[in-house]
Amino acid sequence: MPHSPLSHGWLELIPFLSVQQPTIAEAWVAYQSARAVEARMRAANLHAAEAIQPKPDEALTLKLLVVRYAAAEAAPLAAADLAALGPTGGSVQHLAAELVVAAAKVRLEGPAAGLDPLVRVEHRARITGVEVVLFRALIELARVYTELGESVRARELFTETIDLARRRAEPIVEAQSLLNLGYLHGEADDATSYARYTELALQIFTERHHHFGCAMAHNNLGGAALRLGEMDRATHHYRAAEAIAHDLNNPYVRALTIGGRAGVACALGDLSTGAVLYDASNDILIGSGHHFLAARQLQLLAGYQLNGGRLDEAAASLQAAIASARQHKFRSVLSRCLELEAELNERRGDPNEALRSLRAHLDVQRQMFEDLLAERLRSAEHRYLAQDARKEVEFERARSEALRAKNDELRAALEVQRALQDKLLHMSRTDPLTGLSNRRHMRELLDGPRRTPAEAPPRLSLLLIDVDHFKAINDTHGHDAGDAALVGLAQRIVGLLGPSRPVARWGGEELCVALFDGDALEAAVIGEQVRAGVAALPFASPAGPLALRVSVGVATKRAHEPNIDDTLKRADLALYQAKREGRDRVIAAP
Ligand code: GH3
Ligand code: MG
Ligand code: MG
Repeated sequence: MPHSPLSHGWLELIPFLSVQQPTIAEAWVAYQSARAVEARMRAANLHAAEAIQPKPDEALTLKLLVVRYAAAEAAPLAAADLAALGPTGGSVQHLAAELVVAAAKVRLEGPAAGLDPLVRVEHRARITGVEVVLFRALIELARVYTELGESVRARELFTETIDLARRRAEPIVEAQSLLNLGYLHGEADDATSYARYTELALQIFTERHHHFGCAMAHNNLGGAALRLGEMDRATHHYRAAEAIAHDLNNPYVRALTIGGRAGVACALGDLSTGAVLYDASNDILIGSGHHFLAARQLQLLAGYQLNGGRLDEAAASLQAAIASARQHKFRSVLSRCLELEAELNERRGDPNEALRSLRAHLDVQRQMFEDLLAERLRSAEHRYLAQDARKEVEFERARSEALRAKNDELRAALEVQRALQDKLLHMSRTDPLTGLSNRRHMRELLDGPRRTPAEAPPRLSLLLIDVDHFKAINDTHGHDAGDAALVGLAQRIVGLLGPSRPVARWGGEELCVALFDGDALEAAVIGEQVRAGVAALPFASPAGPLALRVSVGVATKRAHEPNIDDTLKRADLALYQAKREGRDRVIAAP
């Protein structure tokens, strides 16, 4: 196997797999100590937090996701993992890996680059009903839409993830979605809803002792209060966020709280302090790849500066914000900044420039609206197709279930039939009185498998055994006694000869023994063993012990004797000779 990032990734998983049911948080700690790549961890940290409390059966997939989010933050690495997984269709792992690649694309190349891959994963996860992946894909998508300024879609998706999170009992994800949904309301200038959703999120985070979430919620509540002009409340929440951020020692949260303080300073009219704080906050955010928040803070600062009449400073902030927003396609930020730019140009007394900015602003708005409509259509198509595909999957599943049941039924019937056939075959080959093979079966054995000429012709000897004066036994002791004596005779001869020498009931009180690969001498010896063995002990019968004697005719197949009937005839003649010569003896045919 070529050295692939996958093998490396799997090695890293060993600590997780070896720990019984670790929580994602524990897995995360293990991962962090395993690899000291702090900068890369920051983004992944969020995902680790949201993945806490998975369903047990999904724990491993989630662990994979979390670990890959961190390890595969470089999209090429994750793409290689995906390729190494091969074309496994809609398997959970495959979809999960695709999701990771899409998420990595968002981190590395911005939300616009990750949109299509995420939508594809969402679509396939819906069709295949892989909820764990669908759930994560929706969260990612909602964030992407947020950053791309598609607030309507983002709101819909966060609403869906809140429902899903409740159903799946994943309160942290529920709280995070509430937080994001609140933020979107804030963006839409609905500060009251912003505060309400965020309060709900804060409540969950607090109950779960989720400090990171608490810090974020306090920070957003600060923002909501600021919008509502409630300075004291804003300060209270920002302080709470700062205290938690201090304990967490998490630079991302610290950056947000510094941004919050900047907002308070600006709202109180201290634009210089505000600008310094926003700058400091943005340094941290941009350093850790959080361009969206940095751009948004620049936009906020520009707004304050414009209101405060600091036109040059506002122009500089807007320029930076617009550049970032254009680069990363943060269209809501871009649109808002262009609007501010129009206002700035108007105040500067440049109506032409103002008009140009306004047109650009409207262009972005129009584009966003068109994209929203297109996305609506696409999403509706996906849902429709997903429903259709699900029906087909259900149908296929039901059909294969039915087929399997039918198959089982047939197999059972076949078993019964085969058993019956075996029984019939056994019956057709067996003598009911003695349990020996019957004459027909013995003929089958003698005619046996045809041998190729290359094989040496088998040496075959036959023994025909006939009870002496058996009629007299019947006459004297009765037919039942005769029967019992015959059964005993059969058992004794089988016992004498062992299982490799077939014994058959040839006629009434006549038995036939086949000695495959037995020469004439061996046949004569065995004939004598049989005769002596029969004579040695009487046989049990209802009329008491009965002494029997037998005569034995032996013949060995000759090399030029093609027909077994000829051998049989010679054995019969030998038997006849034994009878003639006084019985109770063995005669070998010449
Ligand atoms: P020998 O062979 O020594 O010449 O005399 P034998 O009395 O045995 O004469 P033969 O072999 O011709 O007669 C066979 C007798 O065996 C005839 C029949 O009454 C008896 N017999 C055949 N089959 C059975 C059976 O299934 N049960 C009983 N009880 N008797 C049988
Ligand atoms: Mg007889
Ligand atoms: Mg006979």
